[in-house]
Amino acid sequence: MTGTHSGDTEEPDEPADTAGTAADDVSDGTADSSESAAVAEQRVDPAEAFAALSDPLRVDILRELATAHRAREVESVGFAALRKRVGVRDSGRFRYHLNELRDNFVRKTDDGYRLTVTGVETVAAILAGTYTHGGTLGPAPIDSECSECGADAVAVYRDGRCGVSCENDHPLFGWTLPPAAAADATLPEVVSLAELFARQAIERGLAGVCPKCSAPVEPRIVDERDDAEPVDPTPGLRVRCETCGGRLVGPVGFCLLVDPAVEAFYRRHDRPLDALHVWEPAFVADEGAVEVVDRDPLRVAVEVTLDGDRLAVTVDESGGVSVRD
Ligand SMILES: [Zn+2]
Ligand SMILES: [Zn+2]
Repeated sequence: MTGTHSGDTEEPDEPADTAGTAADDVSDGTADSSESAAVAEQRVDPAEAFAALSDPLRVDILRELATAHRAREVESVGFAALRKRVGVRDSGRFRYHLNELRDNFVRKTDDGYRLTVTGVETVAAILAGTYTHGGTLGPAPIDSECSECGADAVAVYRDGRCGVSCENDHPLFGWTLPPAAAADATLPEVVSLAELFARQAIERGLAGVCPKCSAPVEPRIVDERDDAEPVDPTPGLRVRCETCGGRLVGPVGFCLLVDPAVEAFYRRHDRPLDALHVWEPAFVADEGAVEVVDRDPLRVAVEVTLDGDRLAVTVDESGGVSVRD
């Protein structure tokens, strides 16, 4: 999945950016608590919500309430105490901004003001976006080679996205990683975290769960070779979420990347898959390893070979992997 992902701001129809490998829109779905599930159903209009945060003073209010929320013993903060914490003298002005936050982000209780669940998550998102290295690492070479031309792989982390390509601009991998996850990490660490997120997203996508918002999705293998303008000439994995607009785009080999039988085959040959970068296994990198064996429904054979040993693998139209020994 490609894109920006500071929140859900991505354009669902943006073309996939990496021909060979992954493109993601999945930002890390945090929030699995039942409370958050309730929030999802609240359906706050995002434009309205963000408009409410247009004034920095309002963000300061949320931040102070979040500090109180974390301290636990103080659930609600009284008006005067909150105004003092935020450091605003003019109580009329303070009341105006506080009121603009009510309902969506802040709730008034008998004891004062407290964050709603949306408020808590919004503050977390704001803080996650403001960490560290100005949010940029690299570009710098990492310990891998381009599967297409053999040149050094070069990674960069910028605007919440980790991208790997080669000196000749062949795209190898791209994935979103929130700045908080990349805080204090080196570039190789950021790359392996992004790969971990990608593997998890592939697993969830293949299991029919949107990696970003957990709504049901239908993973599909597509063969675009007969299309007028194919995005990718080799069959690929596509997961698209109608609920959040998240997308996962990658080669068919991605389905094998998380398959237990394929993992076991690699382990038997002393090459554990998780020790390889996701773009490195031949079944991901080599377009020639993929062959369409049936069109209706689509079924694709993928060649998996190590040290002269061969594993016969087919992938069905919804990304299901079958292995025949
Ligand atoms: Zn290259
Ligand atoms: Zn989704």
